[in-house]
Amino acid sequence: MDSASAATLNGACAPKRANGAAESRAALLRGGGGFGIIYGAMDIVILLGAPGSGKGTVAGKLAADNANLSHVSSGDLLREAIAKGTAAGLEAKGYMEKGELVPDALIAAMIKDVVSATTGDKTMLLDGFPRNLAQAEILAQMGVSVRAAVLIDVPDDIILGRILGRRTCPNCKAGYHVTNLPPKVEGICDKCGTRLTIRKDDNPDTVQDRLAVYHRQTEPLIEYYGAKGILRKVDGNADIEVVAKAFMEQL
Ligand code: ADP
Ligand code: ZN
Repeated sequence: MDSASAATLNGACAPKRANGAAESRAALLRGGGGFGIIYGAMDIVILLGAPGSGKGTVAGKLAADNANLSHVSSGDLLREAIAKGTAAGLEAKGYMEKGELVPDALIAAMIKDVVSATTGDKTMLLDGFPRNLAQAEILAQMGVSVRAAVLIDVPDDIILGRILGRRTCPNCKAGYHVTNLPPKVEGICDKCGTRLTIRKDDNPDTVQDRLAVYHRQTEPLIEYYGAKGILRKVDGNADIEVVAKAFMEQL
Protein backbone atom coordinates (compact mmCIF):
# COMPACT_ATOMS: atom_id res chain seq x y z
CA MET A 1 0.00 0.00 0.00
CA ASP A 2 2.69 2.43 1.12
CA SER A 3 5.05 1.74 -1.74
CA ALA A 4 2.15 1.88 -4.20
CA SER A 5 1.10 5.34 -3.02
CA ALA A 6 4.73 6.45 -3.03
CA ALA A 7 5.01 5.28 -6.63
CA THR A 8 1.83 7.17 -7.54
CA LEU A 9 3.23 10.23 -5.87
CA ASN A 10 6.48 9.97 -7.78
CA GLY A 11 4.61 9.29 -10.96
CA ALA A 12 2.47 12.36 -10.43
CA CYS A 13 5.40 14.61 -9.68
CA ALA A 14 8.05 13.53 -12.16
CA PRO A 15 6.25 14.34 -15.43
CA LYS A 16 5.19 17.70 -14.01
CA ARG A 17 8.82 18.66 -13.61
CA ALA A 18 9.78 17.41 -17.04
CA ASN A 19 6.87 19.29 -18.64
CA GLY A 20 7.86 22.47 -16.83
CA ALA A 21 11.32 22.37 -18.41
CA ALA A 22 9.91 21.45 -21.83
CA GLU A 23 7.39 24.29 -21.64
CA SER A 24 10.17 26.73 -20.75
CA ARG A 25 12.16 25.63 -23.76
CA ALA A 26 9.08 25.88 -25.97
CA ALA A 27 8.42 29.41 -24.69
CA LEU A 28 12.02 30.30 -25.43
CA LEU A 29 11.70 28.99 -28.97
CA ARG A 30 8.39 30.78 -29.51
CA GLY A 31 10.09 33.99 -28.48
CA GLY A 32 12.88 33.33 -30.97
CA GLY A 33 15.46 33.25 -28.18
CA GLY A 34 17.19 36.32 -26.80
CA PHE A 35 14.89 38.82 -25.14
CA GLY A 36 11.61 37.88 -26.84
CA ILE A 37 10.15 35.44 -24.35
CA ILE A 38 6.40 35.52 -23.75
CA TYR A 39 4.87 33.48 -20.97
CA GLY A 40 1.26 33.14 -19.92
CA ALA A 41 -0.45 35.40 -17.39
CA MET A 42 0.89 35.43 -13.82
CA ASP A 43 4.14 33.70 -14.61
CA ILE A 44 6.82 34.44 -12.10
CA VAL A 45 10.58 34.13 -12.24
CA ILE A 46 12.24 34.44 -8.85
CA LEU A 47 15.64 36.07 -8.48
CA LEU A 48 17.81 34.51 -5.80
CA GLY A 49 21.10 35.92 -4.62
CA ALA A 50 22.86 37.66 -1.76
CA PRO A 51 22.30 41.33 -1.04
CA GLY A 52 24.48 43.16 -3.55
CA SER A 53 24.50 40.26 -6.01
CA GLY A 54 22.87 42.53 -8.58
CA LYS A 55 19.31 41.14 -8.52
CA GLY A 56 17.71 44.57 -8.67
CA THR A 57 20.09 45.92 -11.30
CA VAL A 58 19.66 42.90 -13.58
CA ALA A 59 15.87 42.74 -13.16
CA GLY A 60 15.56 46.50 -13.67
CA LYS A 61 17.59 46.35 -16.87
CA LEU A 62 15.71 43.36 -18.26
CA ALA A 63 12.32 44.96 -17.54
CA ALA A 64 13.44 48.24 -19.13
CA ASP A 65 14.69 46.43 -22.26
CA ASN A 66 11.85 43.97 -22.63
CA ALA A 67 8.14 44.82 -22.71
CA ASN A 68 7.30 41.21 -21.77
CA LEU A 69 8.95 41.47 -18.37
CA SER A 70 8.01 43.43 -15.26
CA HIS A 71 10.18 43.93 -12.18
CA VAL A 72 8.84 43.76 -8.65
CA SER A 73 11.31 44.38 -5.82
CA SER A 74 10.24 43.61 -2.26
CA GLY A 75 12.87 46.04 -0.94
CA ASP A 76 11.52 48.84 -3.16
CA LEU A 77 7.95 48.12 -2.01
CA LEU A 78 9.07 48.36 1.60
CA ARG A 79 11.09 51.54 1.03
CA GLU A 80 8.07 53.11 -0.71
CA ALA A 81 5.85 52.17 2.23
CA ILE A 82 8.35 53.78 4.61
CA ALA A 83 8.56 56.92 2.47
CA LYS A 84 4.76 57.18 2.43
CA GLY A 85 4.56 56.55 6.17
CA THR A 86 2.04 53.70 5.90
CA ALA A 87 1.42 51.39 8.87
CA ALA A 88 3.34 48.61 7.12
CA GLY A 89 6.19 51.01 6.43
CA LEU A 90 6.36 52.06 10.06
CA GLU A 91 6.46 48.44 11.15
CA ALA A 92 9.12 47.48 8.57
CA LYS A 93 11.51 50.37 9.22
CA GLY A 94 13.25 49.07 12.35
CA TYR A 95 13.86 45.61 10.93
CA MET A 96 15.30 46.99 7.72
CA GLU A 97 17.66 49.39 9.45
CA LYS A 98 19.07 46.49 11.46
CA GLY A 99 19.45 44.32 8.36
CA GLU A 100 16.86 41.82 9.61
CA LEU A 101 13.98 40.39 7.63
CA VAL A 102 10.63 42.10 8.14
CA PRO A 103 7.82 39.77 9.35
CA ASP A 104 6.69 37.26 6.70
CA ALA A 105 3.02 38.30 6.89
CA LEU A 106 3.87 41.96 6.29
CA ILE A 107 5.87 41.43 3.10
CA ALA A 108 3.66 38.58 1.89
CA ALA A 109 0.59 40.87 2.03
CA MET A 110 2.40 43.47 -0.09
CA ILE A 111 3.47 40.90 -2.66
CA LYS A 112 -0.01 39.43 -2.78
CA ASP A 113 -1.46 42.89 -3.48
CA VAL A 114 0.93 43.44 -6.38
CA VAL A 115 0.39 39.97 -7.81
CA SER A 116 -3.40 40.24 -7.68
CA ALA A 117 -3.34 43.72 -9.22
CA THR A 118 -1.21 42.47 -12.11
CA THR A 119 -3.00 41.68 -15.35
CA GLY A 120 -1.78 40.83 -18.83
CA ASP A 121 0.70 38.19 -19.80
CA LYS A 122 3.97 39.68 -18.67
CA THR A 123 6.46 37.58 -16.78
CA MET A 124 7.10 39.06 -13.34
CA LEU A 125 10.71 39.14 -12.20
CA LEU A 126 10.29 38.81 -8.45
CA ASP A 127 13.32 40.28 -6.69
CA GLY A 128 13.70 39.83 -2.94
CA PHE A 129 10.72 37.56 -2.30
CA PRO A 130 10.66 34.82 -1.14
CA ARG A 131 13.56 35.23 1.27
CA ASN A 132 13.00 32.20 3.50
CA LEU A 133 11.23 28.85 3.33
CA ALA A 134 8.03 30.11 4.98
CA GLN A 135 7.70 32.82 2.33
CA ALA A 136 8.32 30.27 -0.43
CA GLU A 137 5.40 28.25 0.91
CA ILE A 138 3.19 31.36 1.03
CA LEU A 139 4.07 32.10 -2.60
CA ALA A 140 3.34 28.52 -3.61
CA GLN A 141 -0.14 28.92 -2.12
CA MET A 142 -0.88 32.09 -4.08
CA GLY A 143 -1.69 30.02 -7.12
CA VAL A 144 0.85 31.65 -9.39
CA SER A 145 3.08 29.71 -11.71
CA VAL A 146 6.73 29.93 -10.71
CA ARG A 147 8.64 29.24 -13.91
CA ALA A 148 12.13 29.35 -12.53
CA ALA A 149 14.27 30.53 -9.65
CA VAL A 150 17.50 32.01 -10.97
CA LEU A 151 20.43 32.31 -8.59
CA ILE A 152 22.82 35.16 -9.29
CA ASP A 153 25.98 33.76 -7.82
CA VAL A 154 28.58 36.17 -6.41
CA PRO A 155 31.30 35.38 -3.85
CA ASP A 156 30.96 37.10 -0.45
CA ASP A 157 34.26 39.00 -0.76
CA ILE A 158 33.02 40.77 -3.92
CA ILE A 159 29.64 41.58 -2.32
CA LEU A 160 31.01 43.93 0.31
CA GLY A 161 32.71 46.31 -2.14
CA ARG A 162 29.63 46.29 -4.31
CA ILE A 163 27.23 47.24 -1.55
CA LEU A 164 29.43 49.91 -0.03
CA GLY A 165 29.86 51.62 -3.44
CA ARG A 166 26.17 51.43 -4.28
CA ARG A 167 24.25 54.65 -5.00
CA THR A 168 20.55 54.93 -5.81
CA CYS A 169 18.33 57.57 -7.36
CA PRO A 170 15.57 58.27 -4.82
CA ASN A 171 13.35 59.59 -7.62
CA CYS A 172 13.48 57.04 -10.48
CA LYS A 173 15.15 54.17 -8.53
CA ALA A 174 18.02 53.80 -11.04
CA GLY A 175 21.00 52.07 -9.44
CA TYR A 176 24.67 53.04 -9.76
CA HIS A 177 28.06 52.10 -8.33
CA VAL A 178 30.89 54.55 -7.70
CA THR A 179 33.41 52.46 -9.65
CA ASN A 180 31.53 49.64 -11.42
CA LEU A 181 28.64 51.68 -12.83
CA PRO A 182 29.30 55.39 -12.25
CA PRO A 183 26.85 58.07 -13.39
CA LYS A 184 28.12 60.51 -16.04
CA VAL A 185 28.19 63.33 -13.49
CA GLU A 186 29.36 62.26 -10.04
CA GLY A 187 26.48 61.95 -7.58
CA ILE A 188 23.75 62.80 -10.12
CA CYS A 189 21.24 60.45 -11.77
CA ASP A 190 21.83 60.14 -15.56
CA LYS A 191 18.15 59.57 -16.17
CA CYS A 192 16.44 62.31 -14.17
CA GLY A 193 19.12 64.61 -12.74
CA THR A 194 18.26 63.88 -9.08
CA ARG A 195 21.07 63.76 -6.49
CA LEU A 196 21.94 60.12 -5.73
CA THR A 197 21.63 58.73 -2.21
CA ILE A 198 23.16 55.90 -0.19
CA ARG A 199 20.65 53.44 1.21
CA LYS A 200 20.38 53.60 4.97
CA ASP A 201 21.14 49.88 5.31
CA ASP A 202 24.21 50.00 3.03
CA ASN A 203 26.73 50.54 5.83
CA PRO A 204 29.49 48.07 6.86
CA ASP A 205 27.78 46.81 10.04
CA THR A 206 24.34 46.26 8.55
CA VAL A 207 25.82 44.62 5.46
CA GLN A 208 27.46 41.91 7.59
CA ASP A 209 24.12 41.25 9.28
CA ARG A 210 22.30 41.08 5.94
CA LEU A 211 24.87 38.62 4.58
CA ALA A 212 24.46 36.45 7.69
CA VAL A 213 20.67 36.54 7.29
CA TYR A 214 21.08 35.59 3.64
CA HIS A 215 23.23 32.56 4.39
CA ARG A 216 21.03 31.36 7.24
CA GLN A 217 17.53 32.07 5.92
CA THR A 218 17.59 32.61 2.17
CA GLU A 219 20.21 30.11 0.98
CA PRO A 220 18.00 27.11 1.87
CA LEU A 221 15.78 28.25 -1.03
CA ILE A 222 18.49 27.11 -3.44
CA GLU A 223 17.86 23.54 -2.35
CA TYR A 224 14.09 24.09 -2.17
CA TYR A 225 13.80 25.21 -5.80
CA GLY A 226 16.49 22.74 -6.83
CA ALA A 227 14.28 19.92 -5.54
CA LYS A 228 11.40 21.29 -7.63
CA GLY A 229 13.63 21.13 -10.71
CA ILE A 230 13.33 24.85 -11.51
CA LEU A 231 16.61 26.21 -10.14
CA ARG A 232 18.96 27.94 -12.61
CA LYS A 233 22.31 29.57 -11.91
CA VAL A 234 24.19 32.42 -13.49
CA ASP A 235 27.62 33.79 -12.65
CA GLY A 236 26.95 37.22 -11.18
CA ASN A 237 30.61 38.22 -11.05
CA ALA A 238 30.61 39.91 -14.47
CA ASP A 239 29.39 43.08 -16.19
CA ILE A 240 25.67 43.77 -15.98
CA GLU A 241 25.11 43.18 -19.72
CA VAL A 242 26.82 39.80 -19.47
CA VAL A 243 24.82 38.79 -16.39
CA ALA A 244 21.55 40.00 -17.95
CA LYS A 245 22.20 37.97 -21.11
CA ALA A 246 23.15 34.86 -19.14
CA PHE A 247 20.00 35.31 -17.05
CA MET A 248 17.75 35.36 -20.13
CA GLU A 249 19.45 32.25 -21.49
CA GLN A 250 18.45 30.37 -18.33
CA LEU A 251 14.71 30.97 -18.72
P1 ADP B 1 19.26 43.62 -0.60
O1 ADP B 1 18.91 42.50 -1.51
O2 ADP B 1 20.45 44.39 -1.06
O3 ADP B 1 19.36 43.24 0.85
P2 ADP B 1 16.53 44.65 -0.65
O4 ADP B 1 16.14 45.99 -1.13
O5 ADP B 1 16.07 43.46 -1.40
O6 ADP B 1 18.12 44.71 -0.63
O7 ADP B 1 16.10 44.44 0.87
C1 ADP B 1 16.36 45.41 1.86
C2 ADP B 1 15.75 44.99 3.19
O8 ADP B 1 14.32 44.90 3.05
C3 ADP B 1 16.16 43.64 3.74
O9 ADP B 1 17.38 43.69 4.45
C4 ADP B 1 14.97 43.29 4.63
O10 ADP B 1 15.02 43.98 5.85
C5 ADP B 1 13.79 43.84 3.86
N1 ADP B 1 13.17 42.82 2.98
C6 ADP B 1 13.16 42.83 1.62
N2 ADP B 1 12.52 41.74 1.14
C7 ADP B 1 12.11 41.02 2.21
C8 ADP B 1 11.42 39.79 2.41
N3 ADP B 1 11.00 39.04 1.36
N4 ADP B 1 11.20 39.35 3.66
C9 ADP B 1 11.60 40.06 4.73
N5 ADP B 1 12.28 41.21 4.63
C10 ADP B 1 12.54 41.71 3.39
ZN1 ZN C 1 16.77 59.17 -11.40
